[in-house]
Amino acid sequence: MGGKALKLELPGGWALSRERFDQALVDAAEAAGATVRFQTSAVLEEITPDGRMVRLRPPGDAPIERIKARVVLVAAGLQHQVMSPSHAASSRSTPESRLGAGCLINDDDVSYEPGAIHMAIGQRGYVGLVRREDGALNLAAAFDRAVVKSSGGVARAAEDVLNQAGFPLPRSLESSRWQLTPALTRRAGLFAGDRFLLLGDATGYVEPFTGEGMAWALAAGAAVAPFVEEAQGEWSADLERRWQRRLVDLTISRQRVCSVLSTLLRQPLTTNALFNLGCQWPAIPQRVIRSLNQVSPLMASS
Ligand SMILES: Cc1cc2nc3c(=O)[nH]c(=O)nc-3n(C[C@H](O)[C@H](O)[C@H](O)COP(=O)(O)OP(=O)(O)OC[C@H]3O[C@@H](n4cnc5c(N)ncnc54)[C@H](O)[C@@H]3O)c2cc1C
Repeated sequence: MGGKALKLELPGGWALSRERFDQALVDAAEAAGATVRFQTSAVLEEITPDGRMVRLRPPGDAPIERIKARVVLVAAGLQHQVMSPSHAASSRSTPESRLGAGCLINDDDVSYEPGAIHMAIGQRGYVGLVRREDGALNLAAAFDRAVVKSSGGVARAAEDVLNQAGFPLPRSLESSRWQLTPALTRRAGLFAGDRFLLLGDATGYVEPFTGEGMAWALAAGAAVAPFVEEAQGEWSADLERRWQRRLVDLTISRQRVCSVLSTLLRQPLTTNALFNLGCQWPAIPQRVIRSLNQVSPLMASS
């Protein structure tokens, strides 16, 4: 940050590409007996006496299907269209929400060595860089909305952050192809409704600064199993309330650390003070990182 660097030890982990990770999830789902449909969009339809109708739209000219489910798990990410945007369970972004962006650079640059997460903090955003298992350099970032426009694009905005932080510029950054996400900071008004339960980013998200989104989504996925079993019988408003509470305990309360950090990072003086504090007493940020990485107890308590 501002040309200053702080090196912190991380608990063990892997930098895994989304392709490898998603394939492993698909394989596990199939092995457990799930039918996997690719490029098929789902929309919640009407409630019936013993289930919820779902419309499935496959790719191309294949016919639309309507299926009935005892319970629908809506794990459709930040800005899905499983229900209409005006539905209380659809998430809404906050006005000050940052935009997310990611890109992949295939290079032979040695500046960013594997086995480390490099985090560049700029005045109006941050960029994380990590080498994946296949050697490609993965960049993930969050920027103030106005900054992408005023810098003349995402690659430029990333370049500004890297320069401000005193990080070397990856060689092909200028020609890199970035993918933008919708506004990141958002929350759904409800986490459950008649025969459907929300989980993962569909319930809400903060920012990727602490890199916990996957852990939150997986923890909710593990915790939902008994609710799905219960939903094979009668549905009740009590089940909805209990899922709502479970999610708050499991993930929403943990998102507060990320939320506080995201707010502080927008204030240069506070960021600077925190950074200096971390340089002097690295045990403090190490402790925060260790607590953020405690995924196993989170899953075990489900
Ligand atoms: C820039 C950036 C960097 C990040 N970096 C990290 C990181 O390093 N580590 C980490 O743990 N987390 C990270 N995250 C967060 C992480 O990606 C998410 O929290 C996580 O993917 C949430 O999982 P999910 O299953 O809820 O949603 P998603 O992974 O978004 O999956 C939702 C799926 O539902 C599908 N879908 C959407 N609508 C429909 C529909 N109507 N019908 C059928 N399917 C639908 C989508 O196509 C998608 O496949 C990052 C996020 C951003 C924006």
